[in-house]
Amino acid sequence: MGNGSIVEFIAGLPKAELHVHLEGTLEAELKFRLAARNAVDLPYADVDAMRASYVYHDLPSFLAIFYEGSFVLHREEDFRDLVYAYLEKVAGQNVVYAEMFFDPQQHTDRGIPFSVMIEGLTRGRIEAERDFGIRSQLIMCFVRERSAESAMAVFEMALPYKHLIVGLGLDSDEKDNPPEKFAEIFRRGREEGFRLTMHCDVDQKNTHEHIRQAIEEIGVERIDHGANLLDRPELIAMAGERGLFFTVCPYANEMMRPGERQSIARGMLDRGLRLTLNLDDPAYMEGKYINENMLMVHELAGFEREDLLTVTRNAFDAAWIDEDLRRELHGKLDAYALAASGSGAVSSA
Ligand SMILES: [Zn+2]
Repeated sequence: MGNGSIVEFIAGLPKAELHVHLEGTLEAELKFRLAARNAVDLPYADVDAMRASYVYHDLPSFLAIFYEGSFVLHREEDFRDLVYAYLEKVAGQNVVYAEMFFDPQQHTDRGIPFSVMIEGLTRGRIEAERDFGIRSQLIMCFVRERSAESAMAVFEMALPYKHLIVGLGLDSDEKDNPPEKFAEIFRRGREEGFRLTMHCDVDQKNTHEHIRQAIEEIGVERIDHGANLLDRPELIAMAGERGLFFTVCPYANEMMRPGERQSIARGMLDRGLRLTLNLDDPAYMEGKYINENMLMVHELAGFEREDLLTVTRNAFDAAWIDEDLRRELHGKLDAYALAASGSGAVSSA
């Protein structure tokens, strides 16, 4: 690798991805292909016109466009194609392990059977591992603006397939939808052996209280985003004591807080919080995948090679995998770091 550029360093780094919404990886080309397969009319003439329509100013306007996209997913093979295309893409960026969110309520509400969705997603994972060597698991998210009863219904549907789902999450529109609304489901989820995470989106109403509930009342192991924790010393202390991980998404944060030079990632790193770097919804974010997100924090927040190794180690530690696989992933990373340091690409300090 020599004294290669930061771009080469990032490209070669073996990486994990822990915060990506599968429905948010649906690129316009695949959307058109699935629409044709399922005879769904799209209100766009072509891929360029569709991409040009991806304009948002806040979370609800983003979600409106995002949900429209999922309407092309109908059959098992559609879900298979969705996950396979994503894993193929990120395997090409040296992602060796991915945990991927899916939102069943987006689909069961349209009459798609849970079995069709989970079997398609699972087949895509297995085929991608066979073809590209990339390992992956699924995290099932509840759509938080819908009722707790709706979430419980989908939770019950998932139980026969729980061996195919590693964890539970919570996403979508946070306003007036606090973690405690779903306390009972997450309590049952823990009993059933699911690992727990939850979105606490950036700059939401009552965000500090939502973060506190996620940590103290729900007992999450990770927080997706969690930026506003940085405003409160007592929350920072709580996260430190409990060893919480944070899945930070640089490109998404740039949309939420433009011009702040990635203050969220920088702030977490400087306070010793265990952050990881992730994608969120790349198909709706100018096609920025993990390498581009890492480059963004390098350019805007001064993340150097040692810092990128640290966040990658954090991601392997945060992953919900067995210890054999964790050792294997750390082994790959350590070998890479050693080679890079031998070549002068990373300081040995
Ligand atoms: Zn997200």
